[in-house]
Amino acid sequence: MNEKRIVVVGGGSAGMMAAIRAGELREGVTLIEKNPILGKKLLLSGKGRCNLTNACDLDSFIKRFSRNGQFLRDAFNKFFNLDLMRFFEQRGLKLKTERQLRVFPQTNRSDSIVEVLKKELYKNKVKVIYQAIMKDIFMQDNKIKGLLLRDGKIIPADRLILATGGVSFRFTGSTGEGLDIAKKLGHRIVPLRPGLVPLETRQHYPRLLEGLTLKNIRLRFSDSKRQIDSGIGELLFTSFGISGPLVLSLSGQIVDWLQDCNTIYVEIDLKPALTKEQLRARLLREFKLNPKKAIKNTLKTLLPKRLMDVFIDIAKILPDKKVSQITQKERESLISLFKAMRLDITRSRPIDEAMVTRGGISLKDINPRTMESRLIKGLYFAGELIDIDADTGGFNLQAAFSTGYLAGESAALN
Ligand SMILES: Cc1cc2nc3c(=O)[nH]c(=O)nc-3n(C[C@H](O)[C@H](O)[C@H](O)COP(=O)(O)OP(=O)(O)OC[C@H]3O[C@@H](n4cnc5c(N)ncnc54)[C@H](O)[C@@H]3O)c2cc1C
Repeated sequence: MNEKRIVVVGGGSAGMMAAIRAGELREGVTLIEKNPILGKKLLLSGKGRCNLTNACDLDSFIKRFSRNGQFLRDAFNKFFNLDLMRFFEQRGLKLKTERQLRVFPQTNRSDSIVEVLKKELYKNKVKVIYQAIMKDIFMQDNKIKGLLLRDGKIIPADRLILATGGVSFRFTGSTGEGLDIAKKLGHRIVPLRPGLVPLETRQHYPRLLEGLTLKNIRLRFSDSKRQIDSGIGELLFTSFGISGPLVLSLSGQIVDWLQDCNTIYVEIDLKPALTKEQLRARLLREFKLNPKKAIKNTLKTLLPKRLMDVFIDIAKILPDKKVSQITQKERESLISLFKAMRLDITRSRPIDEAMVTRGGISLKDINPRTMESRLIKGLYFAGELIDIDADTGGFNLQAAFSTGYLAGESAALN
């Protein structure tokens, strides 16, 4: 048993942590990575700052997963946010907790996270093989025997941890080979869909507003039968539609919803803190104070300038029209527009632009206490290739680190 060879495939957050933990417990651990560097996606994370985890409590943490969060309870009990933070801080990397309990390195640089992981791999004598692409797995009598690389080389293995990621941002290396191999070996794959992804709209005005962020707004997504309310937060206009935290957080639900229904629209409430009556009173006050002012100048106090031009255009009011000439009907349509500026959602951006892949290896085929396949002894899974995904805020990386840690420990001890 002492000569057990453990091979980890995928040098992302899950694979590096799996190899480190296995290396702490055993000799003879190898990490295979197709890129010439480790952690290519990790380097991009948090806009290059790496929001590595979230400091909230376990129950709140699990609620941030779109479904299936309960599956992670064992992995989190083994290695959770405080353990991860201690891991980096004990190795000299100071961390800080920002708004909404998001945790970042004090350096504001994701490469400092990757550096710590690389040093730890070295310290634990993990052999890292770069530019090596897993092509297939060798099995004998339903037991793991080794790994075939694309260049024809064979890497013997007794335990194999697949941590090859999802299928988004494919240029980082996550192109779904791990999923294909797991499927070939009989594992069920929950259909892959984009998560944390921007949405496209039928109307073109978002393009005119590209780059504009609206703060403290509320979104209401609807079709003829159903509504989803976003709560209050930020919206970003893009060249094709909408993005930003509120949109990304709800996008997984919208993607699934779009499969059954193609008439989803979103209403932007630009003034969620005011009722229609309060808005009316406010407009009437402004109109009374400056009856000769052009409507475009009056609205400036209520809207960002870039949005104001588009807003008046949608309301079909001439921007230079004097406030005293605005009819009651026009005033009411402005009020309605403040409370519900509508955009029709046509589709999401493609999965390659999603921050996370929804779907993956079915949890029914993985033992949550060990991350071992229920079908093949000695085969383990970790990270985004599992059917797990969460909101933004550090939840996805913690899931990758925690499942990696558990898979590494289980492979070393079982
Ligand atoms: C732009 C962006 C920003 C993000 N920011 C955050 C954030 O701030 N906080 C957060 O919690 N989450 C964030 N995420 C999500 C998070 O980065 C991922 O969920 C996480 O990196 C998944 O880790 P992983 O190890 O499972 O997969 P990956 O990081 O994708 O690693 C998989 C690795 O396997 C390698 N590989 C794949 N196939 C093979 C093969 N056949 N042979 C050899 N190697 C192979 C790949 O090259 C890759 O290095 C972000 C995602 C994106 C795209």
